[in-house]
Amino acid sequence: MSPRHQLYIGGQWVDPATSETIEVISPHTEQLVARVADPAPADVDRAVAAARRAFDAGPWPRTDPQARVAIVRELAECYSAREDELAQLITTEMGAPITFSRSAHAKLPGVMMRAFAETAAGYRWQETRDGFLGGDVVVGHEPVGVVAAIIPWNMPMFLIVGKLIPALLAGCTVVLKPSPETPLDAHHMAELLEQVGLPPGVVSILPGGREVGRYLVSHPGVDKVSFTGSTVAGRQVAEVCGSALRRVSLELGGKSAAVVLDDADPDAVATGMMIAGLMNGGQACVAQTRVLVPQRRRHEFVDALVSVIENLIVGDPFDPATRIGPMVSRRQQQRVRDYIDLGQREGARLLVGGTDLPAGIERGWYVRPTLFADVDNSMRIAQEEIFGPVLGVIAYADDEHAVHLANDSEYGLSGSVWSPDVERATAIARRVRAGTVGINEPYSMDPVAPFGGVKNSGIGREFGTEGLAGYLDTVSLSIRPAAANSAVPQEGTVGAARAAGPPREIRSS
Ligand code: NAD
Repeated sequence: MSPRHQLYIGGQWVDPATSETIEVISPHTEQLVARVADPAPADVDRAVAAARRAFDAGPWPRTDPQARVAIVRELAECYSAREDELAQLITTEMGAPITFSRSAHAKLPGVMMRAFAETAAGYRWQETRDGFLGGDVVVGHEPVGVVAAIIPWNMPMFLIVGKLIPALLAGCTVVLKPSPETPLDAHHMAELLEQVGLPPGVVSILPGGREVGRYLVSHPGVDKVSFTGSTVAGRQVAEVCGSALRRVSLELGGKSAAVVLDDADPDAVATGMMIAGLMNGGQACVAQTRVLVPQRRRHEFVDALVSVIENLIVGDPFDPATRIGPMVSRRQQQRVRDYIDLGQREGARLLVGGTDLPAGIERGWYVRPTLFADVDNSMRIAQEEIFGPVLGVIAYADDEHAVHLANDSEYGLSGSVWSPDVERATAIARRVRAGTVGINEPYSMDPVAPFGGVKNSGIGREFGTEGLAGYLDTVSLSIRPAAANSAVPQEGTVGAARAAGPPREIRSS
């Protein structure tokens, strides 16, 4: 087990700069379950210095990409061997139901590691083009440098892997800052990295608060910031990176819509919404919490949703029967309850749930899964991200109106369209302004499918070759035989060459 009073900096467990600690409280029992070291700015300095040295002078960025792939494959093996232990840790620290911890929180990162390794193994790291000016042009993809990776608590290991592994495969060095709510899985990752033996300095892990995040983002030793979190924080990160001209990618909030077409089956939709809208207790950036239903069949869809939500088992996250666990923190519980109050004040009709604790539960940061009908898309509960188990049903007049409502949002992260007519659903899905849309399924976050948002949901893409490319710079070498060096193009020859026709076909080396 990792020494929890220490920090993993530059590949070693070291004493932190201060004696401050983070208390990990069980969201179910409200009892202390662990204490871990709380990093200070001086620890960030050490981590960035180690990453800088490892990038500028160490072997990792210069290692053959296929050797990096081999290390990630080894890491994936070590990871899978301890998957159940990880599921227990995540349920302990953030309260996700154990069945969901096993099937998603713990399972998916292993799948992703293997998929990312395949992507890197087949990536075209270099290609040679016939130059228009005579020589060859070699186009290469080089690691961007020291990466600051900042993530929230809601899918902690999934989010670690989504940034750390592509960055490592690219040849970057990484300072990872997980949330203070979920430091235990971060320590678990550090233990696994120790097992595969990366060169010194390549990875540091500093689970800490937003001040640590701010300090890291503005650190002059960082080349790229890869941020996942709220839109408010993302804007602050973008401002710092903008003024420093530092590369940045942002995976931010959402308020996604499930568009239910008028020929959809109410039971299938209601069952699908338990994942699409309520997975992880609604603490998911991709949660589709606006359910758009046809006006003339709205009662059927509402009835089906009521009967599924009423039967969800809420309670002890370690009980395999539980479907909805507690919220991650008291603050999150209060935030969600405030939105439930607000929805009632705004005139939405509360059909299931509410602000009181679920029956039989006396402590823990629980919120009852809640369904509102008669929601107007202009209400705050339809426009703002709640990040809890709260769904709102919004009626639309026709397909045009449904598309308009789906897009009437400052966000554009995910969405879904439900209909037995896949062609019709696909045509609607193409008109939804969001990075990822599922047809008859909540978007399934396949590791080869680029993931990210439009509008206030972010900038950039993760996963697939696009995600790997986010950690690479494209560089060109122009090569001529030494004897031809005197043949410097005369004025006008570039234009003449371009006028000769379109670029010739790219040939890879
Ligand atoms: P948050 O923005 O408060 O914090 C996220 C992370 O950023 C934490 O590690 C935090 O310590 C750090 N942080 C906060 N302010 C910072 C700043 N100014 N500079 C640097 N670091 C800072 O978000 P949260 O409440 O922890 O997480 C929930 C949010 O994350 C939701 O909005 C959700 O939609 C979003 N999210 C997005 C995705 C995605 O892929 N688009 C995935 C998961 C969660």
